[in-house]
Amino acid sequence: MTVSGKVNLCDLPYSALERFVVEEMGFKKFRALQLWQWIWVKNASGFEVMTDISQSDRARLAELADIRWPSIADVRVSSDGTTKFLLSLTDGELVETVLIPSDAPKRPNDLSVRMTQCVSTQVGCAMACSFCSTGRLGFRRNMTMGEILGQVQVARAYMHDTQPERPVIRNLVYMGMGEPLLNLSAVMDSLRTLEHPKGLAFSPRRITVSTCGIEAGMREFGDSGLAFLAVSLHAPNQPLREKLMPRAAHWPLESLISALEAYPLKTRERITLEYLVIAGVNDQAEHVKQLARICARLKAKLNLIPYNPTPGTPYQAPTPEELLRFEKALWAKGITAIVRKSKGQDIEAACGQLRAAHDAALAEER
Ligand code: SAH
Repeated sequence: MTVSGKVNLCDLPYSALERFVVEEMGFKKFRALQLWQWIWVKNASGFEVMTDISQSDRARLAELADIRWPSIADVRVSSDGTTKFLLSLTDGELVETVLIPSDAPKRPNDLSVRMTQCVSTQVGCAMACSFCSTGRLGFRRNMTMGEILGQVQVARAYMHDTQPERPVIRNLVYMGMGEPLLNLSAVMDSLRTLEHPKGLAFSPRRITVSTCGIEAGMREFGDSGLAFLAVSLHAPNQPLREKLMPRAAHWPLESLISALEAYPLKTRERITLEYLVIAGVNDQAEHVKQLARICARLKAKLNLIPYNPTPGTPYQAPTPEELLRFEKALWAKGITAIVRKSKGQDIEAACGQLRAAHDAALAEER
């Protein structure tokens, strides 16, 4: 239910939409498929456009239901093509989503622009990681399934309307604001909706969900096979992890690694370990040794992410030379570490930074 007392159809997974159509509306079952395609394939934002549904049925639908997407509060485009949206949800809460252009296409005639979209799953976050802007905001609320996928629909519509080359969203990463596995049911519903062959038909092989490591959620998520798993490691020993990620570290590192050893993986599938590189904090020789011990136990690849400085934190980004030294030391230990270039730095594209900047500007206005 929304504030209007109407059911927002974007929040209903297919089975729930079918139930609503049959039980609440008294319609035939096939109407659910029509609505589903209007919502997820044709990006409809009202019933008026649904010309294959009779006018009287549309009027009855509008009495009990609506289709509400987030609205765009701010858009920033970086010099590297990264586009960041600040979206307003129906209760006025703000979340961020970012479109990141993939690297140049392999074939010379391929003019298509492919994007990776990073989506949020919660307004704020309860995990309070010490380096993260969203962590400083605290937890406000979970996002619904419609709000999570609304980010994709709004970004698609925006690109369709504004970009002549019509870029496609090729990959999705759940790495925006919030901890996905603490909003597990909406996240799982969103993954099932993405996969639905008569809807968005998005392959699970193009989706990655990133977690700081939540014991209960990880098991259920792993069994579902609905997306790849990425784990924010950021520290190779328990005391350092407690400093950087105090709440996530409640689940001891050793238990997290054991759970990852037992994590169900398909052939050739690997877990992604994300490692934020913070100058002088987690990039020393001892950390290389500890990381090597962890990686030896797992089928994993290590992504190094240079820290994107956040105002108010004591941390610094590594210099390119420091980063290279750390990467080389890891390679020398036989670890496949890949540096992930930070994009969109000129538009505050790290987790929670745009909303933080927006809140700060509002505070200044007051
Ligand atoms: N809660 C989930 C997903 C959201 S954060 C998780 O922890 O994985 C997505 C990624 O962005 C995480 O790896 C997080 O540690 C990283 N991140 C947060 N703040 C950052 C910053 N200032 N610079 C670079 N990466 C950051």
